[in-house]
Amino acid sequence: DPGRQREKMETLYQEVLRRNPGEREFHQAVREVLETLGPVLERHPELAQRRIIELLCEPERQIIFRVPWQDDQGRTRINRAFRVEFNSALGPYKGGLRFHPSVYLGIVKFLGFEQVFKNALTGLPIGGGKGGSDFDPKGRSDAEIMRFCQSLMTELYRHLGEHTDVPAGDIGVGQREIGYLFGQYKRITNRYESGVFTGKGLDWGGSRARREATGYGVVFFTQEMLQAHQDHLEGKTCIVSGSGNVAIYAMEKAMALGARVVACSDSDGVVVDWNGIDLERVKRIKELERGRIRVYAEGKSGVNYLEGGNIWEVPCHVALPCATQNELTADDARALVNNGCLLVAEGANMPCTPEAVRLLRDAGVLFGPAKAVNAGGVATSALEMQQNASRDSWSFAYTESRLREIMAQIHHQSFETAERFGLPGDYVAGANIAGFLRVGRAMASLGL
Ligand code: GLU
Repeated sequence: DPGRQREKMETLYQEVLRRNPGEREFHQAVREVLETLGPVLERHPELAQRRIIELLCEPERQIIFRVPWQDDQGRTRINRAFRVEFNSALGPYKGGLRFHPSVYLGIVKFLGFEQVFKNALTGLPIGGGKGGSDFDPKGRSDAEIMRFCQSLMTELYRHLGEHTDVPAGDIGVGQREIGYLFGQYKRITNRYESGVFTGKGLDWGGSRARREATGYGVVFFTQEMLQAHQDHLEGKTCIVSGSGNVAIYAMEKAMALGARVVACSDSDGVVVDWNGIDLERVKRIKELERGRIRVYAEGKSGVNYLEGGNIWEVPCHVALPCATQNELTADDARALVNNGCLLVAEGANMPCTPEAVRLLRDAGVLFGPAKAVNAGGVATSALEMQQNASRDSWSFAYTESRLREIMAQIHHQSFETAERFGLPGDYVAGANIAGFLRVGRAMASLGL
């Protein structure tokens, strides 16, 4: 009975609201999942009886701590850091660390919650967790970044371990930060425990294709979606929000597969280049100089830089939001639909608001949810852990081929699960249900 199911899920949601006041993003992520799980409980009373959904909404462990550090002027600075160890039914807690001033418990919990389902979907043995700090790396010197990372790890190390909790990067945390964090872990523990971090540099236990993995995976998934609907990426006009690690490698793979990428952005503005984005230029600005995207337009003809502009107003066939949560709103969705957009796939975590998702899907736009679409990053992290465990190092081609297989498998599973539950084409429900079943069954097997 769908009415009763909806009522039950609404009660569960109200309980989550009550237990986690003020955590808006976490509420949003939980609500989206609960809205799709009603039919599952009907078919799996054994999971309902164990209250698996309620258990899933409560993190196993939440760590909040102070990070004191000294800036270059010798002044004491104080930040707050978090690690939410959400679920370990499938493997050690796995998920990135985010450094951004917007970080608070509600953001870390939303990301950790999403991570549990995403990691389950990969089919690999990884649980879900997430962490971060309200530290703002913008404008900080390399020495300040190092001191901050070392101070953070001086507390966090006791909670980590290759069989316990394995962090990686996210917004504001790349290979440089992972290096400082891993270095401090190694110093304190006297263990060269490569498997305790992923996203490491190639010379110190990292995996080939990990840097590229999230962005490449986004495009592999997009390609699978188009193929399942008798279409293809070649010749499609594509816009990619953001210009960080996910955006850069999504653009790279989209171009390699014949798409025309005409726009990207950062939090200051939007670059539109109708000749196609010059990726080497973006990489130089963002990866080498750690600069702003406005520099892209300097001394380059045929480029429009729109300070404070809105990328979703740029006409396209394929839109890949790869910046941050809730960056694509209902108004943006309307603009995309009016301009003939065919497909939206989420490269960032929860970049589309619930209203935007509803609008896109009602208008018949193919919609790929983050949990499935951006799972290639963490999947390749699991491949990095495999290489560390066997003291091996795989080729780029082999690692990328594994990533491609995993993305195809995630697509197949999401697509097929949606069909099986009578919701053809609904990747949101398909991904949520498939992820839920894998982690939920493991939880039930392991007992309370
Ligand atoms: N932060 C990435 C994500 O959102 C990667 C996590 C990881 O590799 O552990 O999935």
